[in-house]
Amino acid sequence: MNHSQYKETLVQARYVTNEVLQKNWYTKLSNISLSVIGQSEEGEEIASITLGRGSKKVLMWSQMHGNESTTTKAALDLVNFLSSKNELAKIINDNCTITLVPILNPDGAKRYTRANANNIDLNRDAKLLSQLESQALRKLFEAFGPDYCFNLHDQRTLFSAGNAKKPATISFLSPASDPERKMNPTRESAMKLIVAMNQELQKEIPGQVGRYDDGFNDNCVGDFFQMKKVPTILFEAGHYPNDYEREKTREYIFHSLIEALKVIAENRIHEFRVADYFKIPENEKRFYDILVKNPQEINPDLTPNVSVGIRFKEVLETNRVLFEPEIVDVAELNGYFGHETFDCSLKNDVEQLHSRKEILNLIVNSKN
Ligand SMILES: [Zn+2]
Repeated sequence: MNHSQYKETLVQARYVTNEVLQKNWYTKLSNISLSVIGQSEEGEEIASITLGRGSKKVLMWSQMHGNESTTTKAALDLVNFLSSKNELAKIINDNCTITLVPILNPDGAKRYTRANANNIDLNRDAKLLSQLESQALRKLFEAFGPDYCFNLHDQRTLFSAGNAKKPATISFLSPASDPERKMNPTRESAMKLIVAMNQELQKEIPGQVGRYDDGFNDNCVGDFFQMKKVPTILFEAGHYPNDYEREKTREYIFHSLIEALKVIAENRIHEFRVADYFKIPENEKRFYDILVKNPQEINPDLTPNVSVGIRFKEVLETNRVLFEPEIVDVAELNGYFGHETFDCSLKNDVEQLHSRKEILNLIVNSKN
């Protein structure tokens, strides 16, 4: 599957807003039904689009968290794919009806925040329905009556897939539907679909798929819909090496979405095994964006045996997101990794640090 052929060039990098879609994307869609499913707290229209003509209904929504745009980009690519003459697209369209909400939280998308305009996390509002965005999604869920739901998100760069030096480029979860986290056919269907996607992803990013923990919270949308007996999958787009704009991860989400829809369209969910779901390593928090070892070599104030862990803070600055390094830990960081690592006991690494003034200054000015 050639992703570049379907890539929607209108959306790139991390900052994706409703305004861009309204001005330049929704208007160019043809043969696709477009609806307004509600308004955001600040009066922005929340749109949904529907594709396909099949009996299996799939509901997906992205950017419930406004600063999580990777899955939105991949969903737009999916729309291009499903609108093409591709043979598999025809099979999916013949067997599925897909409703997509590209941006559920337009106010958060505009501000580049997780929460909405009232500073509410919409993924903790499934039961309360205190926010207009949550109400819009629930109304759509009830009117459409999906057979499957895809809950599309981004995750931070700190996650590893298990305890190995492998970033969780994509993570999945089949949420629990009760506090005891019991198994049931709904959860199992979601698990089997995840197994199908994981099998495909392992060919491209071996070891870089993780599984989220399934602590139950019925105010989370996935848990709530799963409780309503609709298999619901949490997708988390994560870090791929040197891809802070998440254009590579976008491609893997695109492939995952197509694989899941293909398996649904072809009635093949039963071919996959729940046991394989539990073989996917759990997400662990083992990564820093930058890990600096032996920093005492360039900063005598630091004791030997400590490392400095740096993470990037994402800051919106006129239509683009900047990544500002911040020290988050100065400690013995055994068992932790960096997406980039510098060892100050190595001449080469120190030389490299000198060309990264911002990082160098952080280290030189840091204290235990
Ligand atoms: Zn999220």
